[in-house]
Amino acid sequence: MDVIHLLPDSVANQIAAGEVIQRPASCLKELVENSLDAGARHIQVVVIDAGRTLLQVIDDGVGMSATDVRMAFERHATSKITEAKDLFDLHTMGFRGEALASICAVAHVEVMTRRAEDEVGTLLEIAGSTVVRQESCQCPVGTNFKVKDLFYNVPARRKFLKTDQTELRNLLQDFYRIVLVYPHVQFTFVQGDEVLVDLPQQTYKQRIEGIFGKSTAKPFTGQLVDLHVDTEMVTIHGFVGKPETASRTAHQYFFVNGRYMRHPYFHKAIMAAYAGMLPGDYIPSYFIYFDINPQAIDVNIHPTKTEIKFQDEQYIFQILVATVREALGKFNIAPSIDFDRVGEVEMPSSKATKSVPMPKVVANPGYNPFKRTASPFATPVGAVASNPEIEPIAEPKEEVVQLFDLDIASLPLYQYADRYILVPGSEGLFFINQHRAHYAILYQKLMLQMVDGKGLKQQVLFPEELHLSADEDVLFRSIMKELEYVGFEFDQYARNAYSVTAVPVQFGEKSALPILKDILAEVKTVGTPVREQWQKRIATILAEEMAIPYGRHLSELECRDIVQQLFKIPNYRIAPDGKTILFLLTNEEIKKRF
Ligand code: ADP
Ligand code: MG
Repeated sequence: MDVIHLLPDSVANQIAAGEVIQRPASCLKELVENSLDAGARHIQVVVIDAGRTLLQVIDDGVGMSATDVRMAFERHATSKITEAKDLFDLHTMGFRGEALASICAVAHVEVMTRRAEDEVGTLLEIAGSTVVRQESCQCPVGTNFKVKDLFYNVPARRKFLKTDQTELRNLLQDFYRIVLVYPHVQFTFVQGDEVLVDLPQQTYKQRIEGIFGKSTAKPFTGQLVDLHVDTEMVTIHGFVGKPETASRTAHQYFFVNGRYMRHPYFHKAIMAAYAGMLPGDYIPSYFIYFDINPQAIDVNIHPTKTEIKFQDEQYIFQILVATVREALGKFNIAPSIDFDRVGEVEMPSSKATKSVPMPKVVANPGYNPFKRTASPFATPVGAVASNPEIEPIAEPKEEVVQLFDLDIASLPLYQYADRYILVPGSEGLFFINQHRAHYAILYQKLMLQMVDGKGLKQQVLFPEELHLSADEDVLFRSIMKELEYVGFEFDQYARNAYSVTAVPVQFGEKSALPILKDILAEVKTVGTPVREQWQKRIATILAEEMAIPYGRHLSELECRDIVQQLFKIPNYRIAPDGKTILFLLTNEEIKKRF
């Protein structure tokens, strides 16, 4: 008996959907790309429950005829290419004719569409690849796509989806990757009845600043440097952030021929151009658009793949380094001008810049004043151990008993070098690192406060403004309660904008914004579902920030207070970042030295 048969379309499409439509975000990408291919100037995205319940894309593009809309849902049905050679001259985002067939295999789809030349439009309803309804309808020119109950018939896929917050962030992330390429198209993104993103027709720079300008630790609105280069092989244009806007949370985007791409090698080129200008782990924001002959890149782009192979990567690498350098050099020629206005100032000619040094630049590779955990001094244990004349000191093992035995209230305590607290015990002399000790104490407290909400707050006189991008805002709302529990207070005054009206008591006078941005960046990497994980990160960042710094002179009373608190916490030997808080120089070791 023969056993091979062709799969029914609905099954084949469902299998294909597994590849093309992995989550609501991939569905959104396909629909918005279709709207752009249809020449839309206004595109509205509406989601409910992060796209699970509803994902709707409304455009004012060319629309479809009654036959075309029916055809559009067939596998490999496309109006965008006809022969293989067209693949090398693509001017559209789509060309595979797979997206709609895939979407309708795994959701309930309802589409209303009308062309300008038609009196009436068409309404088509499809569920699981089967047409349920087709009729004429009244509707504006353009296309209105509703995708409901995504993955209703693929329970495994539905289960595999993350929390609404994560899916919403994925949606926004894919949305940004598209809207950054089409600044002249107006976009809105609505979740439920809340407008999350609203982008008028803009220039590239306005669009970038509109989305991210205020959202990094160091806002870059008005601080982007233009770059442009035209060679036979490639045209590159775009923007890079001035070195002083770099931070640990930057926005980095490459696009090629209108598509977002990841390109680790070109990323290195940009970093090379900034060499010596950035402290430690800081990264600049950049938005770089390549236009290149499609024959010089791999065109058979998979809808879900973002890495693209270039034929002449090394050559483009060189061009990129030189172009970014030159752009940065141009602005560095004028260190005294008001940086807020640099964008509007006419740039001096590039010839003049070559010989000019870059004055605004910090380039001491050894010392990094910004790095969170960096200390300009070596750790005390390491310092002793690495001195060849002194024998390395063994790791203390028995402190547990020894420390609790100490009657700290009656012991004389000393601060040494404004960095260490010395505690004489019966077994020897304890060296306690003041910053790390306080860090560990605060960490412990913050972790408790995030559960019981007993953090003390301090009202601020001049509240700072926290501006977030829409995706950061989603994240922010999910960690807001914890932040309020430890003593922050926020007052939302506009979409994605809050004033910080109170900070934890120990926070002091410094700006809360960079720290809040750091926290967001950390939570982003961990992901919100793992609550304990990101609570730990928040506590780590805040504790480290608020802990008594090195170099601060402490009274004996303060020393005593720290030591007493330290010995009450379970982890008094190792700071949250894994570094040693204290060591014991035993009596024996001291004796040996004489
Ligand atoms: P592709 O985009 O690769 O051609 P799709 O399955 O995404 O494949 O779409 C199939 C066809 O449906 C497109 O080629 C286009 O002709 C038509 N189409 C899809 N969405 C729209 C839209 N929003 N407006 C007009 N036509 C559309
Ligand atoms: Mg398409």
